[in-house]
Amino acid sequence: MSNILVFTETTGTKVKSVTLEILGRLAGQNIEVATVGELSSEATAELAKYGAQKIHCLKGAGLENYSPEGYAKVLKDFISTQNYDYVFAGSTSTGKDLFPRLAGMFQAGMASEVINFTMDGGAFAGTRPLFAGKCLAKVEITGPKPHFVTVRPNALGLTDSPTAGAGTKVDVAADAGAIRALVKEIIKGASEKLDLTEANIIVSGGRSLKSAENFKILDDLANVIGATVGASRAAVDSGFAPHAMQVGQTGKTVAPTLYIACGISGAIQHLAGMRTSKVIVAINTDPDAPIFTRADYGIVGDLFKIVPIMTEEFKKLLS
Ligand SMILES: Cc1cc2nc3c(=O)[nH]c(=O)nc-3n(C[C@H](O)[C@H](O)[C@H](O)COP(=O)(O)OP(=O)(O)OC[C@H]3O[C@@H](n4cnc5c(N)ncnc54)[C@H](O)[C@@H]3O)c2cc1C
Repeated sequence: MSNILVFTETTGTKVKSVTLEILGRLAGQNIEVATVGELSSEATAELAKYGAQKIHCLKGAGLENYSPEGYAKVLKDFISTQNYDYVFAGSTSTGKDLFPRLAGMFQAGMASEVINFTMDGGAFAGTRPLFAGKCLAKVEITGPKPHFVTVRPNALGLTDSPTAGAGTKVDVAADAGAIRALVKEIIKGASEKLDLTEANIIVSGGRSLKSAENFKILDDLANVIGATVGASRAAVDSGFAPHAMQVGQTGKTVAPTLYIACGISGAIQHLAGMRTSKVIVAINTDPDAPIFTRADYGIVGDLFKIVPIMTEEFKKLLS
């Protein structure tokens, strides 16, 4: 059995689901959780349900907003007082920014963007994509502990039968030190929907949408099935969608349960961001479009006809 710390982030009062996915997979290990700031009682209960024995809330001045320097320092200070074998986090934008920095501070090994792992005998063995997902590498970490791991959201899935932990909350006084780059303001995106990287269902549109206004037909479908809307780079470069919606090599990497690609050709750079989706549906007028080589279900036809029909049918089914 290993001693493990899982760094958690929250969305509102809830724990990001990637944390719960990681906790579920770590059942049988001695698991503690750390967060920066306060946690709601709802979040505390979720973490306990999924196996957290202790929940450390690192609190101090200068930690109100995320800053790479401040968060890395307080986590380093805290981890240095403990005896963890592994430190995990979601491969979110914060995890991707923070964990290489932390691993560097400890001069320790790190496995990033892991999509599957085991803890046989308390030792981590994972799988991670390489070369934009064209191949998968088996990874183990050697050298001084703790070892650091980030896990791609939605890759593991939630366990149906979590093993509960004590969930004892502990406040830890933290000193953020001198932070050279301060976040002065956070301007929220227009969408209140789940971030693409966490979404369970994604409806994405390509250049063929022809305008920003036409993305409304994807929004309509997304609203009915509880999806988040994404876009190809061609759609983003054409000004139809903001960069935050871009899926692919130079956008976001996603792994939803269902990915519906509407009028997207399936270029290698787009596939790099969504090929690990569990089920892929493609709608395209061109029967030879490369996206069909990856799709589980393909519909050859005009998205402007098919998407509204799908929306109506889902409305009936789900009402
Ligand atoms: C370094 C680099 C990084 C890149 N990063 C990314 C990235 O992160 N993400 C990304 O997506 N791309 C990326 N690209 C661009 C990528 O190569 C493609 O150009 C892009 O993905 C194409 O977008 P698209 O499929 O929307 O457009 P197109 O390739 O133009 O395809 C449009 C598709 O829509 C179909 N179509 C047309 N009308 C309809 C209709 N009415 N109904 C249904 N189907 C229709 C067509 O048959 C066609 O298959 C990158 C490229 C480079 C060089």
